[in-house]
Amino acid sequence: MRYISTRGQAPAVSFFDAVLAGLAPDGGLYVPESWPSLTDHVVGIQGAPASDRGGYVANCGHDFTAGAALAALSGGAFNASSGFEFARNAYAHSGAWPKATTPLVQIDVGRWLLELFHGPSLSFKDVAMQLIGPLYDHILSERNERLTVICATSGDTGGAAVEALKGRDHIDLFVLLPKGRVSDVQRRFMTTSGAPNVQSIEIDGDFDACQAIVKSSFADRDFASRARLSGVNSINWARILAQSVYYHTAAHALCAHGPVHFSVPTGNFGDAFSGYVAKQMGAPVGQIMLATNANDILARAIATGRYQRQQASIPTISPAMDIQVASNFERILFEALDRDGEHVARLYRQFAQSGGFDIPAPALRFLRDHFEGRSVDDEETRATMHAVHRESGHLLCPHTAVAEAAAGRDIEDDRHRLGLPLVHLATAHPAKFPDTVEQATGVRPALPAKCADLFAKPETMSALPNDLAAVQDFIRDRSRAWS
Ligand SMILES: *Cc1c(COP(=O)(O)O)cnc(C)c1O
Repeated sequence: MRYISTRGQAPAVSFFDAVLAGLAPDGGLYVPESWPSLTDHVVGIQGAPASDRGGYVANCGHDFTAGAALAALSGGAFNASSGFEFARNAYAHSGAWPKATTPLVQIDVGRWLLELFHGPSLSFKDVAMQLIGPLYDHILSERNERLTVICATSGDTGGAAVEALKGRDHIDLFVLLPKGRVSDVQRRFMTTSGAPNVQSIEIDGDFDACQAIVKSSFADRDFASRARLSGVNSINWARILAQSVYYHTAAHALCAHGPVHFSVPTGNFGDAFSGYVAKQMGAPVGQIMLATNANDILARAIATGRYQRQQASIPTISPAMDIQVASNFERILFEALDRDGEHVARLYRQFAQSGGFDIPAPALRFLRDHFEGRSVDDEETRATMHAVHRESGHLLCPHTAVAEAAAGRDIEDDRHRLGLPLVHLATAHPAKFPDTVEQATGVRPALPAKCADLFAKPETMSALPNDLAAVQDFIRDRSRAWS
């Protein structure tokens, strides 16, 4: 299995090279050259009849399925058993998360929460990052190399990256976070590691500004190669791979009478794209709802056929989704355009010039076959948190509440008449947003015991202007990989 660029102008690379590179040299994103079946790669069931394999995946859980995903997508770097071994060790690595668990919790008739926030930094970003940390170590010690990892965060990627990469010998991590746009709990997950290889930098700008600095640093060939730059943002293929795993396990667990629908709180389109990947690899995934807050570029694109950015992102109570430009949209566009990289490149040139493009009609039909989109405002998000708490006793984080609200609480909805299960991705622990949750429900969620000392630890953070050169100077002075 090789990896090709969505812009069609870069040579195909290996799985390991795709993981380390992040962005392809032609500016595109890496995708596998074809979609393998997951169940062909599950350890121990190759001989089982096709009808039994889904049950196997559902029962054997996350590490097992992650191993199969590694075997299927790594082009021979892992096989079914070494993939399983690797995933099991990766998720056992963190004492705070001895075994990766992504439980399905029923909240109503036909409705489930898929709780993805039981990792060390309390968001779904841990699911991927806990695998990426050991994967980087594995690749870098094999090659005897060091890397500089640079990461823009809307709040949760940074904390998950710090937890996964702190103290690692081959890596220096630089996290760029938007000033004033993350919660205290989110920030503390980035600033309290005490690890000398971690630098958290508050940028005087929004997430899109942080992301633009990261993208420009990669585009600066001289800087990128001297710093040995690598990225763990959601464009990193390993994140998509790791996130596809819980769609496989959840869909197989619930799919008695037909496919399982998902509602996904969406910002950079990484998590939602992972659902599409699972579907291409054989998981019984139905429609995927792209649930957005007021930053609704994706919901508008599905509704109108035009992918058009607005001036700046709008601050909301679901800050991890305050994103205007959904980087991974390029991957689904590549699929929707029958993998015509030149066409993707043309549309993104237009996007760079004018801030938007029209999605060709057949591609739009393709998108609507797989995805719906809905934008939810803060008021409805709060009302949903309140209603769910009152009706079921569950506290939702504001992002999860956006997914719950977008999927519609109205019984007119087709899928309820069809009786197909609906899964909301619960992407963060409510205690990551205690003020918002308390305001909506009257209950202040407590941090789990494993991170109860978060507010007792000292913080270390730098502050820089929204300026590429200032960030690059900072990194040059501190990166051990610099040459
Ligand atoms: C990052 C994040 C999202 C959005 O995920 P994408 O992959 O960027 O679409 C949603 N909810 C929470 C809590 C997040 O941290």
